[in-house]
Amino acid sequence: MLDVLLSPEEKKLRDKAREFARTAVSPEMLKDMDQEKIVFPFGFHKKVAEAGLYGIRFPKKYGGLGLGWTAESPVIQEMGPLGMVLGCQYSMPSIVGEALTRFGTEEQKQKFLVPMLRGDLVSAEALTEPRGGSDFFGATTVGRRDGNDWILTGAKRFIVGAEGADFFLVYVKTAPEAPPHASISVFIVERDRGVKVEHIFGLMGSRGGGTGRIAFHEIRVPQENMVGPENGGALIFNQMMIPERMTSASGPMGGAQAALDLAAEYSTKRKAFGRPIRKFQAVSFKVAESMTLLDAARGLVYLAARTVDAGLPHRRIVSEAKKYSTEVAWQVVNNAMQIMGGIGYTDVYPIERALRDLRLAMIWTGTSEIMSNLIQHEYYDELKARAKDDRRNVELDATRADATAEKVYE
Ligand SMILES: Cc1cc2nc3c(=O)[nH]c(=O)nc-3n(C[C@H](O)[C@H](O)[C@H](O)COP(=O)(O)OP(=O)(O)OC[C@H]3O[C@@H](n4cnc5c(N)ncnc54)[C@H](O)[C@@H]3O)c2cc1C
Repeated sequence: MLDVLLSPEEKKLRDKAREFARTAVSPEMLKDMDQEKIVFPFGFHKKVAEAGLYGIRFPKKYGGLGLGWTAESPVIQEMGPLGMVLGCQYSMPSIVGEALTRFGTEEQKQKFLVPMLRGDLVSAEALTEPRGGSDFFGATTVGRRDGNDWILTGAKRFIVGAEGADFFLVYVKTAPEAPPHASISVFIVERDRGVKVEHIFGLMGSRGGGTGRIAFHEIRVPQENMVGPENGGALIFNQMMIPERMTSASGPMGGAQAALDLAAEYSTKRKAFGRPIRKFQAVSFKVAESMTLLDAARGLVYLAARTVDAGLPHRRIVSEAKKYSTEVAWQVVNNAMQIMGGIGYTDVYPIERALRDLRLAMIWTGTSEIMSNLIQHEYYDELKARAKDDRRNVELDATRADATAEKVYE
């Protein structure tokens, strides 16, 4: 995050996260995750908790720091160089914790939120199904009431932490006949209730997070594990999309910045035609373009952070931040690879891994296309709601604004 935007407290926290990213994870661990010698980064969560970096936005009484997104986003950016999976594992308590702090009962908070923020329990979220992620409300995992319990049947896929999480926050159809937005409830499902991992995916990047398909074969879950109101999943979904997208917007900027830094340093040392390649405008302008894009993305993400913290309408700006920042990260890491030439495409440098990792950011937590859908939709609504006379009517400034016969719309 741009220093000028941060308070002294936020800077201190950011610096702590920077130190954590520099020292707490060995290069061997990242390599082993990428090669899938490590299926899930057990132990990482405890280290984060011990460093005091979990629960930044959550109340102190549950182990949080009681700050806002302007504090959390820079911390996630610092986690970016550790790659998408550790960035995600850093962010998961923020996402699952959003549902628990806002909608959970006191008992659920004590049983799940508090140990999660201490790094003693690992969480995962299960929204996406084999039949689709974008069309979330078409979910087919069903819950049938049985006395004071629910019986869950169905499958979720692409779940980070399928291998490794202690509990899952699962979206389930509990009223299949109701309109989609009033048909889903949210449950905490502990792994040991019988959650089956049916498939672990071979991924292009972002490996080592235990991403897989999980199945619920008639799993019995008590009513007390329901989060929020029955069939009120839409409410929780909309709230959780804030941390989903704010965390997704934040981490990739840190990953892309690290790749750019490496490439820019390389460009000062690597020579071609007797000169450091930095001296070729084609190279240095790529650096300039990349830095500009990253700073613009940081500005937009900060604006989204301020907007959410202020409790203002945020859906458009958060969607813009997610879409723009993840697309910028992709462009920047691609520039970094181009700057480094052939060696950038090899495993001698970690640019190729960053490129494989970061591609995911434009897909998960809502694709770029879904973000565009939200952005245009929100904007058209704002346009409609705007008072007609609150700003200049520029239409009248055209030379032939009076040519009403030419203003044909159908
Ligand atoms: C490695 C990885 C980890 C993941 N982790 C998790 C996780 O932990 N938990 C979880 O719940 N999910 C997770 N996901 C799922 C991810 O969020 C979904 O893949 C994503 O939301 C897209 O859903 P889909 O793959 O079903 O694609 P689809 O929804 O089938 O979309 C396919 C294409 O159609 C486009 N499309 C669909 N609908 C529209 C529309 N209305 N307008 C315009 N375009 C549209 C999409 O943009 C996309 O290009 C993960 C995915 C991956 C790959």
